[in-house]
Amino acid sequence: MGSAVPYDESLHNIHIFMVTFPGQGHVNPILRLAKRLAYSGLLVTISAPEYVGQSIRRSNSIAEDKPTTVGRGLIRFEFFDDEWSLDDLNRGDLDLYLGQLEVTGRENLIRMIREHEEKGIPVSCLINNPFIPWVSDVAESLGIPSAMLWVQSSASFSAYYHFCHNLVPFPSENDPEIDVQLPFMPLLRYDEIPSFLHPSTPYPFLRMAILGQFKNLTKPFCILMDTFEELEHEIVEHMSKNCRPIKTIGPLFKDLDTPPTSSNATVRVDFLTADNCAEFLDSKPVGTVVYISFGSVVYLTQEQVDEIAYGLLSSGVSFLWVLKPPGPESGRPPHVLPEGFMEKAGDQGKIVQWSPQEEVLAHRSIACFVTHCGWNSTMEALASGVPVVAFPQWGDQVTDAKFLVDVFKVGIRLCRGEAEGNIVNREEVERCLREATGGGPKAAEMKENALKWKKAAAEAVAEGGTSYRNMQDFVDEIVRIRGSRDQKANS
Ligand code: UDP
Repeated sequence: MGSAVPYDESLHNIHIFMVTFPGQGHVNPILRLAKRLAYSGLLVTISAPEYVGQSIRRSNSIAEDKPTTVGRGLIRFEFFDDEWSLDDLNRGDLDLYLGQLEVTGRENLIRMIREHEEKGIPVSCLINNPFIPWVSDVAESLGIPSAMLWVQSSASFSAYYHFCHNLVPFPSENDPEIDVQLPFMPLLRYDEIPSFLHPSTPYPFLRMAILGQFKNLTKPFCILMDTFEELEHEIVEHMSKNCRPIKTIGPLFKDLDTPPTSSNATVRVDFLTADNCAEFLDSKPVGTVVYISFGSVVYLTQEQVDEIAYGLLSSGVSFLWVLKPPGPESGRPPHVLPEGFMEKAGDQGKIVQWSPQEEVLAHRSIACFVTHCGWNSTMEALASGVPVVAFPQWGDQVTDAKFLVDVFKVGIRLCRGEAEGNIVNREEVERCLREATGGGPKAAEMKENALKWKKAAAEAVAEGGTSYRNMQDFVDEIVRIRGSRDQKANS
């Protein structure tokens, strides 16, 4: 979007305060939205618990006390104390941590908002992402307008909404394998609905956390979604009519007018420093490298990692594989590769701990993306025109995989999810990699569709596009609300 949003002097005093859940998949879209808003002239604060602040500072060049100029506006960070020591392993127990975050987050948020008011930079709008619905309560109690940035697909949004309000039958203890029919979607098998909604989920606290947002949906004045109209038109329209006003503003990561050399690019929020992948990718021919990443949270069994490794070797493809070390709070051991793996792979393979994924997916050498189908990775693949091999595990990943393969038609499926309890064997890995990278009709069809979505995504965020207009409407609305509040205060 960038400079396409008209700059207006009056935006200088508009302060957007964002609170993000401390997960990589949540912080990334919040930063991307912050960049968009700052680009049009606003001051944006991003707030998160201090322990995440520590990782972000360690891995990126961020000076917390000094706002960074982005476009015509500013981005600054403000981290708060969640009262657990920075190395407290209890954070690995989300059930426990979410409660602690709410208690300390509420207090700190009220304090930070008051301090900004006293400094003459009052907060005009609060924005949060899922898992921290108490931000909308604080906004309401202080009379500040709020919006929610939904960081999954509108299809997943619809599934949670229909479940929360008991609008269609979902799998239950008595009937765990029924299919689910949601408006304007293909029939979803019981293992294609967001898995936290299934009665057998091992993560019931995540269902509670996400549904907490749905119980609070009347508080935000609008819901911003990191998707685009053309991708999920009918679902968005239906949910906008029947639930709350939705503004599709994605793909947020498509920063068309902001070249990566600008100050914009120096604001990053990776929890780990990204390894250099450019040299390896530059050395490979166009469309030949398989990129493999399972996001920031998924942890595969060692046996599954072994099977992927052997499948890669026997397929003979070039690959860039992110083997992220598990966080210390998980108490899990890092994966090991089979003996002699890198020697056998030779120049054909590279293993990294963390990649600059946006740049990787945009690289001409990438053939396909073996992904866990997190929504950020899904949008990044679609907007980059990269076909996928779907390897979902849980949550909305299983729903995203269904859409990538059967609706958007840019992928093939390697597994159905963690609930299946299967190890995908090396032969299956090899077969899928050959199918996705070979010159056959399936690979050609996937690439053609991926390029179609890439074009549609670019058009959505370009001047006059649907996401562009929605973003502009959102900024206008905040300016209007702020104006009428100021008027009231002065009268
Ligand atoms: N990511 C990255 N480098 C990596 C792996 C992931 O920058 O090596 C980024 C990726 O681009 C995406 C985010 O981390 O923006 C992961 O979000 P997603 O929703 O795909 O998955 P999650 O981590 O939430 O499961």
